[in-house]
Amino acid sequence: MQALRFDNRFVDELPGDPEQGARRREVRGALWSSVMPTPVAAPRLLTHSPEVAALLGLAADDVASPGFAQVFGGNALLPGMQPYAANYGGHQFGSWAGQLGDGRAITLGEVLNARGERWEIQLKGAGPTPYSRTADGRAVLRSSIREFLCSEAMHHLGVPTTRALSLVATGEDVVRDMFYDGHPKSEPGAIVCRVAPSFLRFGNYQLPASRDETDLLRQLVDFTIRRDFPHLAGEGETLHAAWFAEVCERTATMVAHWMRVGFVHGVMNTDNMSVLGLTIDYGPYGWIDDYDPDWTPNTTDAQGRRYRFGWQPKVAWWNLSRLAQALSPLFDGVEALQDGLQRYADTYARLDRDNVARKLGLAECRDDDLVSMQDLHALMQAGEVDMTLFFRALIDADMADPSMRGFDDAFYDAGKREAVAGPLRAWLAGYAARIADDALDATGRREKMRLANPRYVLRNYLAQQAIDAAEAGDASGVAELLDVMRHPYDDQPGRERFAQRRPDWARERAGSSMLSCSS
Ligand code: AMP
Ligand code: MG
Repeated sequence: MQALRFDNRFVDELPGDPEQGARRREVRGALWSSVMPTPVAAPRLLTHSPEVAALLGLAADDVASPGFAQVFGGNALLPGMQPYAANYGGHQFGSWAGQLGDGRAITLGEVLNARGERWEIQLKGAGPTPYSRTADGRAVLRSSIREFLCSEAMHHLGVPTTRALSLVATGEDVVRDMFYDGHPKSEPGAIVCRVAPSFLRFGNYQLPASRDETDLLRQLVDFTIRRDFPHLAGEGETLHAAWFAEVCERTATMVAHWMRVGFVHGVMNTDNMSVLGLTIDYGPYGWIDDYDPDWTPNTTDAQGRRYRFGWQPKVAWWNLSRLAQALSPLFDGVEALQDGLQRYADTYARLDRDNVARKLGLAECRDDDLVSMQDLHALMQAGEVDMTLFFRALIDADMADPSMRGFDDAFYDAGKREAVAGPLRAWLAGYAARIADDALDATGRREKMRLANPRYVLRNYLAQQAIDAAEAGDASGVAELLDVMRHPYDDQPGRERFAQRRPDWARERAGSSMLSCSS
């Protein structure tokens, strides 16, 4: 394998834990711990993302070489790699959880590519670290496939996200109790190599703040700004305020994209919130089939449904408030942090209007359009209407004679379809009148809608079908699904089956509509 150029600024510039190795411990006064990946029995490359390989400067030959699975399965290091696990805390489901840290993710280093871009590469499932607590540091194949596919699918949908280079089977089994109900079983293990400019989370700042380690907190904030936000100007409190405001703005942008495409993260704990505004830590996430703001795929959250689809914008705000609290020792008053939170609210409100304009194909969103979208959402929920299929059908609906023709595929239940048919026809008539009065012509409207409303999303059951085949020894479905998700806004003739509504069998099937944090 060709050499990569490493420039490991995180470990070079920030305080680390003096102890090496994976002994489980509390780590104070340090932001990371040196730890090696634990070798696996038989690493085998199942699939990879050629786009991410290219980002890093890896050629097809490198990926095809036997050394690739050794390195990205955690059995060998390339020159310049300095593996470590990061130390962070977090609020989980609303409660402060103390030290968490990378319990199974190990960063190998920061690659500098030929264009001068910095990409942190990290193995997930590479074995125990000081932060593994009682767990094994490993990941199962099913959750690794889900993380691999969704990272790349989100990127191609235009949603800010961490990326995935590779999916390597370990040749070892991992024991998991999928629904925490006393039925553990052995499952095949795997390792995903994740790639992002940085994996820093809100929790990285919260942990030193919770321990009154203000100098460490300040060091981390200043480092983050120097390395990841070099365009920000100023110094001291002004600079810190500008940074926090940008974190707020990026978070708003990310969540607005989630709402546009129907993505439900499932575990928006503050340790799973990136300060770069990237979608991070793909666990029990899901995609909206029938429009339901109250839906969460995460059975671990079934009681309070804190992380339901429709709550994501306000949960992000709550999480940013926790980050603001952590950063408060760096500020004299609260005003600058409040301004940052206001930036979140303003940005989200603007992008929410943008989403309405884009999804409905309007030149701009007026106040009555916001109301009209709310009405439509209510009808979609009452009528159990598939979100993705509905908006694609709306693009091609005959607006000279608005009717339910063309929307049949978007319904899951004939009775519910009947119940909303009248009001939905009325909504369509209102929409037809509205677009007749819009600055965009029909071609412009359709083009705008096509770029905002995907034809293909990573429906939960599609990922599960690829997982079932991979668990039975055939991983080709993973690559095929990734290939479909490369062009989510294009009609892909011959691939209609990837654009269909969720089949009935998948409604209550584990993995398709019910997922847990067990991964
Ligand atoms: P998550 O819910 O995946 O964000 O994980 C929350 C915390 O649990 C993080 O600190 C993870 O590193 C840790 N964790 C999750 N699964 C494992 C595992 N199998 N082994 C070690 N740590 C884990
Ligand atoms: Mg996490």
